[in-house]
Order: sequence, then structure tokens, then C-alpha cells
Amino acid sequence: MSAIRYELIKTCAQTGARLGRVHTPHGAIDTPTFMPVGTLASVKGVSPEELKALGAQIVLSNTYHLFLRPGHELVREAGGLHKFMNWDRPILTDSGGFQVFSLSEMRKIREEGVEFRSHLNGDKLFLSPEIATNVQNALGSDIIMAFDECPPYPAEYDYVKQSTERTSRWAERCLKAHERPDEQGLFAIVQGGMFKDLRQMSARDLTSLDFPGYAVGGLSVGEPKHLMYEMLEETVPLLPSGKPRYLMGVGSPDALVEGSMRGIDMFDCVLPTRIARNGTAMTSQGRLVVKNAKYANDFGPLDPECSCYACRNYSRAYIRHLIRADEMFGLRLTSIHNLHFLVHLMEQVREAIREDRLRDFRDEFFEKYGMADNESGF
Ligand SMILES: [Zn+2]
Repeated sequence: MSAIRYELIKTCAQTGARLGRVHTPHGAIDTPTFMPVGTLASVKGVSPEELKALGAQIVLSNTYHLFLRPGHELVREAGGLHKFMNWDRPILTDSGGFQVFSLSEMRKIREEGVEFRSHLNGDKLFLSPEIATNVQNALGSDIIMAFDECPPYPAEYDYVKQSTERTSRWAERCLKAHERPDEQGLFAIVQGGMFKDLRQMSARDLTSLDFPGYAVGGLSVGEPKHLMYEMLEETVPLLPSGKPRYLMGVGSPDALVEGSMRGIDMFDCVLPTRIARNGTAMTSQGRLVVKNAKYANDFGPLDPECSCYACRNYSRAYIRHLIRADEMFGLRLTSIHNLHFLVHLMEQVREAIREDRLRDFRDEFFEKYGMADNESGF
């Protein structure tokens, strides 16, 4: 029996977006959903209690980082990732593929796997579909990801074709190496760069292998947003409707809404916590750089429409003061607010799907957010 089951509750008559639920061994997730990223088994500066209070139902952690430090055997010894980080709700781990290709130096890609040097100390390391899968088996996350190659943008057609075919062969090896299919659901990742026929080929090859869920990878890598949406429109209809669909590494407010409209169920991104650490908040009126001098005497909350812990208790002036003084609490408050903003945005998206008005919601949200004609968004 598969560890992951998708329940489709309703499709939005206006857009085709899906309201659903993903059932995992650590509970269910309402979808479409945004997953906060805890790279090193911690959502930077935000405790599990605070994540629950802001409404997070699942967190993501990174296999590459945990493989390097503290090592998956230590996490196994601790009783698995849930116990190690004190998070009893669902966890998704990525495969490490993306980080191997984006962070490490001197990588050599072979059919067998990828040899690379650690970005921490230069140690020579090796990851293969089998190793990446077994590392995630040791971590014990509810959803694990197949080891893939994410081609850069832009890239030549021939290279992307070769790489996409290899990613499919690697996905099959991950499936064979998976040691805990009753406790962890393995998702495959559709690649294919910005080429429609390669996206179709990838979706066809991977869906023939019957994974419990499918991700769309290799997007939001520097391409214009309209191209990302085109690739989604090409890919998503080819994925089975009875399985969850996850768009990797996408978390700007506009893309969460647009992705949901195209049938995506799950999203993740470091954006809300990364921009929080630069003193930037996402608000219902758009982006707010709380560090700016104009907020020095502003005693209102970050977002007047927000009900998060930071907005209920603290002012822009106070948070600006903390950030300018390098006080950790300022970054924590901004992170809590930004995560709440995206988690709450997805609650509104689900409500709009339930009421068959996601397109109307999108238009209202974008108008308020000040980005109706602004492609770059956040
Ligand atoms: Zn707030």
C-alpha cells in the first residue's frame, strides 16, 4: 500500500484548480498548500510551535544539506527527522539533486551518479539515485523525491534531452532502491527544460512508472514567468488526476495563485524567510521594505489585514528598529509574518476554489497587490 493518498474534493468551475487533501503517515495536508522550507531541519529562526500557530501543515527539508551535516546516520540514530527536529506533522525532503547542481563545485555527472565537492569543506562526495533514496529512507520523511538533474536556463535542446532521459532512468532506479514504500511516498520529478516536447516525453516516461505523486521541476530557474506558466500548461494535464502535483521551488504570491489555477497542489520556496532576513515583508498591499526610513514612526502592524503573531503584537517602527539594530527577534517576527502570509494566501485560494471563484480572487488579489501588469512580481 502506498504511504501517500490524494483525495480530490472539488475542482474550481472557473479555473480547473483542485481542492484536495494529501494523506500521509503523519496526517493530512489541505491542498493547494505552501510548504515552509527548513533547509537544515529548521525553518530559520521559527520554532515548530510557531509554525503550527501560523497554520503550516507540512515542512520541507533538504537532503543535500543533511547528508553533509549532521549526516543521515545521525538523524536515523536520533529516531528520524520528525523526532530530531520535534515536528510531528508531515515532512517532505528533496533528493539533493538541485543543490548538487546549484551549490557544489567540480561536479561530474555520470550515468551512475554525480561526483561533487562539498560547498562546506571541499570533501569529495558522491550521490546516486540509490544513495539519495536511501539517505531519505534514513531521514524518514513522509514524502521523498527522486534524484534528478535540473538543467540550467537557458540550455541547449540536445543537452536537456539527454539530461531528461537520464532523469527518467534515475527515477526508475530510485523506485527500485526505495526501502520503505509503505511509510514514505516517492515522488518523481518531471524535467524537460523549456521544451514542450521534452516536458511531454518526461511526463509520459515517469507516469508509466506509477509513482504516488509527481513534481514539476526545473522551473523558476531564471526564465520569464510566462514561460513557466506555458510549461505548466504543457505538463500538468499529462499527470494523473488521482495523484498530488508539486511545483518545486516556487513561492512568490502571484505564482502560487497562478500555479494553483493550473492544477498544482503543493509549492515550496525559501523566498518568505530569505526576504524576511533582508527586512522585507509580503503584505496584502504588496511588498514592504520595513527597514525604510518612512516606517521609523509607523506604529501600525506590518500588514493591517494580517492576524499573525507579529501583526497582532508589534509595530513597523519596532520591527524596523530591531532589524536595524541586528536584533534576532526582528528577523523572527518578519519571518513569522511572511510565512503566515503565504499559508493564509493558500487558505484563501482553497476557499475560492470551494466557491468556484478563483479567477475573480486572482484579479482582486493582483489589483490590490499592485502587480496586475507586473510580470516580475516579487
Ligand atoms: Zn502578519
